[in-house]
Amino acid sequence: MWPAILAVLLGACGPTWDLDKPFAPLHILAPVDGTEAATAFSSSIEELGGRVAKNGTQHVTLDLDEKCNCGNCTLTTWAYVRAIQPNTIWLCPSGAASGHLRGILKHELIHALALRFDHLPCATHAVMTLQFACHDDQTTYTTDDRDYLCSTRATDGGVCH
Ligand SMILES: [Zn+2]
Repeated sequence: MWPAILAVLLGACGPTWDLDKPFAPLHILAPVDGTEAATAFSSSIEELGGRVAKNGTQHVTLDLDEKCNCGNCTLTTWAYVRAIQPNTIWLCPSGAASGHLRGILKHELIHALALRFDHLPCATHAVMTLQFACHDDQTTYTTDDRDYLCSTRATDGGVCH
């Protein structure tokens, strides 16, 4: 019994993602502009010091949740990531209609990679602020975003060396 419990605990503490290993192209199940989504994903990974390759072994999926049923989501929620399923970014109908797919993907990707779900203060103008208005013109990750990502040690490699 002990070895099994220990293995689970160690698994939970070690990094889940490694930016030094290739990611597979974004698996797109949501009805969005596939080129825009794929490009937003790969450019975000590259910005974090990683790369996307066809034979990549780390997988992220973009799917649509028509009911936006995340537990504490509202009608204005654009997208979410669940801690128990961090390799899936769920897009909500309002997010799909927002015209901000790139910004949504950049934001949710950090939640997925960091396994962290709080937000930075609006004044930081980081991608990881809660309201899109706080980072409207923010098309690249800031130092605060990188610190947020690396703070949990769920991601190793890349900018988290
Ligand atoms: Zn968020």
